Amino acid sequence: MRPKIPVSAKSEPLPSAFDVVVVGGGVVGCAVLRELSRYGLRLLLLERESDLAEGISKGNSGVIHAGFNVPSGTLKARTNVEGLSRIYRLARELGVPHRRTGKLVVALADEDRPHLEELKAQGDRNGTPGLEIVDESGIRALAPHVRGRWALSSPHSGIISPYEFTIALAECALQNGARVLLETPLTAVGIRPEGFLLETPRGRFSARWVVNCAGLYSDEVAALAGIEDYRIYPYRGEYLITDKEAAAVLDIPVYPVPPRDDSFLGAHLTPTLEGHILLGPSSAYVEDKRDAATTRPVMDRLKAEAFLLVPELRRLLFIHAYAGLRPKLTDPQGRVKLADFIVEESRLRPRWVNLVGIESPGLTAAPALAARVIDIIGAREDLALRPDFRPDRPAVPKFATLDDGERARRVAADRAWGEMVCRCEHVTRAEVTAAVRNPSGARSLDAVKRRTRCGMGRCQGGFCGPRLADILQAEGVPPEKISKRGSGSEMFYGRNKP
Ligand SMILES: Cc1cc2nc3c(=O)[nH]c(=O)nc-3n(C[C@H](O)[C@H](O)[C@H](O)COP(=O)(O)OP(=O)(O)OC[C@H]3O[C@@H](n4cnc5c(N)ncnc54)[C@H](O)[C@@H]3O)c2cc1C
Repeated sequence: MRPKIPVSAKSEPLPSAFDVVVVGGGVVGCAVLRELSRYGLRLLLLERESDLAEGISKGNSGVIHAGFNVPSGTLKARTNVEGLSRIYRLARELGVPHRRTGKLVVALADEDRPHLEELKAQGDRNGTPGLEIVDESGIRALAPHVRGRWALSSPHSGIISPYEFTIALAECALQNGARVLLETPLTAVGIRPEGFLLETPRGRFSARWVVNCAGLYSDEVAALAGIEDYRIYPYRGEYLITDKEAAAVLDIPVYPVPPRDDSFLGAHLTPTLEGHILLGPSSAYVEDKRDAATTRPVMDRLKAEAFLLVPELRRLLFIHAYAGLRPKLTDPQGRVKLADFIVEESRLRPRWVNLVGIESPGLTAAPALAARVIDIIGAREDLALRPDFRPDRPAVPKFATLDDGERARRVAADRAWGEMVCRCEHVTRAEVTAAVRNPSGARSLDAVKRRTRCGMGRCQGGFCGPRLADILQAEGVPPEKISKRGSGSEMFYGRNKP
């Protein structure tokens, strides 16, 4: 059984005064919360949705970018390369699944080689380590099924589970005394000489500092404090996912040469840690920040583009599709060409820090963005390091990755380790129960899924869904409260049999 984190967000009464309130429980907000939890501060994170990582941080490629795709001299470039130098150690410290895979940007024809050289030069300027242009035999050595004439090889790129990383950052902060409130949107802000009065449906909190990490909604959250400086345009990226047998076809992310208009990196192929391949993302502006639809024409196009690079993919099955939304500062007409990350203390509202336009490579850059927030607050506050700060979180054993001896030991000690809840991903009852009992609090099927992988396999929850509902009930969630992803997605009316 997973050890219990000593500081529970739920068991102790919540104070109403905080030194810093972070708005948004995505990877950026959780990285900021964890970094702040090194210091003797009273910390609260407000998240509107029913779980952490419900926003952009769940719908992306999960690639650890090395920093050659971003324009030199920008905050994006600096935080990307700095994030790269921090993220592997951080992932190890927190026990988050990740792998340094390397990455290839592939040119199908000789005429695209200059573009690869430009990318390499940009990466060299940005400080990306180890970049090299390889020929066909170099491509074959790294990725035998990939077709291409030339490729830029980036040995330090990698892959990480973005939602597990986000949740782990929050669990570490919880362990160090921070508090997290889910289903608690910030709805109004009062300005006081000593700070801010924050209105939520769960009460009013005062904060000396506010850090706005609200992703797609960071413009609207800033506006609550009267800061009208930003406008976010949602830019959708759709993905298709193959079945697990893909591991034999590709174990390194492969990108095409990016389109010249620089609007995105091109629909790429990204292996996951479990052996699936993600095809995508596409790119299109949408009106609605919640419009994460997937569409047939895009799925067809993603396949056609992917088959050009890796013809072997034709024989694979596709099990799921999803979409993520980039928080663009550039408008659809291209009138506003703001492309850099914004991390700044508001001039209008001192002690209110905004992180806006955190699109790709925001996952990689999150640890470095968090360090920027510490610099801003540290310039005005005497931040005292806590001697008892714990950088890790309790280990999260996964049955699927344990060896047979360890599996047998666990089953002998606790029969819940021998009860298979998810057959596709080999997740046991013990892991699901631990996810539900964790203070970061999985209460919905999606929340359990992100912590354990239940429902992410070939049957997409067909087998484990009813079993998860049973376990949630056994753990005290009333049937009518069991939901897919929090209020509004409840799955049952109640019990019709005793
Ligand atoms: C298609 C796509 C692919 C990408 N691929 C990569 C990649 O491979 N590598 C990489 O490094 N980066 C990638 N990125 C970028 C990366 O995913 C984002 O930069 C990062 O996830 C942004 O995290 P965030 O915390 O800022 O936003 P979010 O994860 O959206 O978090 C913001 C949170 O704020 C909450 N919120 C909003 N309003 C309120 C309110 N009023 N009160 C309380 N909470 C509120 C939201 O519910 C949300 O949970 C990709 C992005 C996209 C869209």
